Amino acid sequence: MNNLINKVAENLTKNNMEAFVVDKKDEIIPLLKSLMPKGASVGVGGSATLDELGVIPFLREGDYSFFDRYAEGLSRPEAVEIMRQALLSDVFITSSNAVTEKGELYNVDGNGNRVAALCFGPKTVIVIVGANKIVKDLKAAEERVKTIAAPKNCRRLEIESPCYKLGECASMGFKDREMCDGCRTDERICSTYVLSGYQRVRDRIKVIICKENLGY
Ligand code: SF4
Repeated sequence: MNNLINKVAENLTKNNMEAFVVDKKDEIIPLLKSLMPKGASVGVGGSATLDELGVIPFLREGDYSFFDRYAEGLSRPEAVEIMRQALLSDVFITSSNAVTEKGELYNVDGNGNRVAALCFGPKTVIVIVGANKIVKDLKAAEERVKTIAAPKNCRRLEIESPCYKLGECASMGFKDREMCDGCRTDERICSTYVLSGYQRVRDRIKVIICKENLGY
């Protein structure tokens, strides 16, 4: 696993993303502190990984201007407005659905705010992934989303999509299944597909790879 993680980090660097490797989860918040200047405006993408690490309380307590989409009492339109504002933050923190061995980030989003921030807007994007997010290639990344990430996220968010009930995407049994196959309902969380490869702005995306598993 060490060799694989080093290879992924090397390939992320070749793709102009700055890579950091940590052994343990508890090294991540101190690393975040070192990467974010005091007073920075910070937004986040929805993520079980960030929940597991306690990133939200860290940002609330820290010396940052946090676009807190989870603040108590927000209506849905208010939360969406904060998500819009976060697209112009100094720093945006998120996870990734998968990272390929070639150093590509693969993400599928329902609202699209998380992948929008990855593409353009925030000056810096910090992506935190556990070793469990590393996959061989794009085909494996697609399968990972359909069989692990989407069903588990639907359970976490109590979204009654077909994969919530089936435990995997409704398209898994399709012959000649294509990436965008699956359900066509309002519950679908697989709406926008983004693959981040070689970046024109060097080190704008920073990827922290933890040797432990994180999120799903
Ligand atoms: S397309 Fe629908 S059924 Fe398939 S993984 Fe996404 S939300 Fe679940």
